[in-house]
Amino acid sequence: MAGEPQDDCLFCKIVAGQVPATIVRETKTTVAFRDINPQAPTHILVIPRAHHRDAAALAAADPALAADVLRETQAVADEEKLDSYRIVFNTGSGAGQTVWHAHAHVLGGRGLQWPPG
Ligand code: AMP
Ligand code: ZN
Repeated sequence: MAGEPQDDCLFCKIVAGQVPATIVRETKTTVAFRDINPQAPTHILVIPRAHHRDAAALAAADPALAADVLRETQAVADEEKLDSYRIVFNTGSGAGQTVWHAHAHVLGGRGLQWPPG
């Protein structure tokens, strides 16, 4: 069921403390941790504690929680002292989504090309 922890979900396990992660911020509703395979000097993932399969499902099921995730991306960028940064929600396998628990990538600390690949 949407929002419930999923046994086979890596990010639910990080939320539950069953898989280690380098956590940089936590709120009542979100967790932010460093990506294990960083694509930029700063590469942090912000996730809702509740399980939703992607950003669209999250926004549809719980808009306030989606806003919490967005607010946290700004908090992470502030803590990392990023003036410019990119927020990415890969949605669908064709766009590179590999973990089916909604997450915002916060990328910064280097010049970022536009358009992206
Ligand atoms: P996506 O490809 O958009 O679904 O993003 C999933 C991200 O999770 C990738 O950037 C991975 O490097 C990252 N990732 C996978 N496993 C872990 C982990 N155990 N801890 C932190 N980040 C992870
Ligand atoms: Zn999950």
